[in-house]
Amino acid sequence: MTAYDYDLFVIGAGSGGVRAARIAAGYGARVAVAEEYRVGGTCVIRGCVPKKLLVYASHMAEEFEDAAGFGWQAGQAALDWATLRDNVQNEVARLNGLYIQTLDKAGVDILPHRATFLDAHTLQVGDRQITARTILIATGARPAMPDCEGEALGFTSNEAFHLDTLPRRMIIAGGGYISTEFAGIFHGLGVEVTNLYRGDLILKGWDRDIRERIQAAYAAKGVRFHLNTVFRKIERQGETLLAHLKDGTTLETDAIMYAIGRKPNTRGLGLEAAGVTLGENEAVAVNAASQTNVPHIYAVGDVTDRVQLTPVAIREGHAFADTVFGSKPWVAAYDAIPSAVFSQPPAASVGLTEEKARATQANVLVYRADFRPMKYVLGGRTERALCKLIVDADTDRVLGAHMVGPDSAEIIQALAIAVKMGATKAQFDATVALHPSSAEEFVLMRAPS
Ligand code: FAD
Repeated sequence: MTAYDYDLFVIGAGSGGVRAARIAAGYGARVAVAEEYRVGGTCVIRGCVPKKLLVYASHMAEEFEDAAGFGWQAGQAALDWATLRDNVQNEVARLNGLYIQTLDKAGVDILPHRATFLDAHTLQVGDRQITARTILIATGARPAMPDCEGEALGFTSNEAFHLDTLPRRMIIAGGGYISTEFAGIFHGLGVEVTNLYRGDLILKGWDRDIRERIQAAYAAKGVRFHLNTVFRKIERQGETLLAHLKDGTTLETDAIMYAIGRKPNTRGLGLEAAGVTLGENEAVAVNAASQTNVPHIYAVGDVTDRVQLTPVAIREGHAFADTVFGSKPWVAAYDAIPSAVFSQPPAASVGLTEEKARATQANVLVYRADFRPMKYVLGGRTERALCKLIVDADTDRVLGAHMVGPDSAEIIQALAIAVKMGATKAQFDATVALHPSSAEEFVLMRAPS
């Protein structure tokens, strides 16, 4: 029998890889993980965590504005970007340390190097060649770059957390949740933001009411939209950047950020040497058990391009480790995954959108509550919130819940339990409201609209 250096070798210490390594080691497997950048991966180092801290910071601009209506007389508020940036990075460093500790405690060897396949059981890791019985690819994804002249003059979310100074003007290209969140962040921090998007309505795939609500709210706050076009060429002119667009317009700006999608990290990984097959968008192709076409090689998280969210990568990594090392087989489920856009106002969603429900179910009822949150009244803020339930008229089952407004991520996380359990509209109606709250709207909607 071949003696391998490790029972499990994990490539990438991000959300999926760390969970899989820790759980497998807990079952007694000899485990190593290679990380070419920083343990914690995208979510901790340059994704969810630093992003959410910046969202909190940028939202404070509105809190200061509204405070006067509640009787507070604050002085002139001013932002010190360097303090914010450094405090965020200190928190990232603290979490990075905790992740390293967790792996150490679990007995996982951390190898701070890039790993590439030499063959199906052998990896080049720094200057060592290491063999493993089972290999997990958990290399995540990277930001896509536009295909235009001068693209190197812009940056991505990776660099956005480290800017030396805040630019006065900024173009953020993209229409997904990352571009929308960063448009809200930088606008809130005082940057003049233009959102450049190739479509006409941001947040494709989200419920249309939510998409329209957020785009309109951003426009009302002063975020400019330049729609239905993409970059043709970017050039520097002194301190200024000129963005020449395919629609013939030229926009002047001080900085350009790309958030135009994410590509699975499979390039240069030596997958050909291991015989691993790729699917669409350069993703590793896997079955429901996260197994590739090579039976002892698995892949989880963003590199498989299924649902690019941290809790999904974590569940896939956990399911893999339980199944392969713990004799407790299960697979991650992809229904009723709640998700949020930490925009301003924030939005969150679970289950089917109205459009998806109408395309797949015969009889759909839609309930809406459109209201001005109590918190906004004294502050004089005119922004409105929207709660929406999508119901299958034949079974009364709630198929989807969507919200735009304060605390929507917190509210939808709790509602996701009901949607996952298959709750009916009658059960929502039978639930007593918690008053006064925004969440109570979800149990008070009586007539479909
Ligand atoms: P990752 O966490 O990306 O980890 C992969 C790791 O592999 C990286 O550390 C990388 O350095 C390493 N690596 C790659 N190649 C090699 C190699 N050859 N050798 C060694 N190491 C390698 N998700 C949410 O759920 N909520 C959010 O609010 C959210 N916000 C986000 C905001 C931003 C700006 C971004 C970019 C992403 C956000 N995400 C969010 C997505 C989330 O970060 C990812 O879905 C998640 O991190 C995927 O985990 P993973 O384990 O697949 O990969």
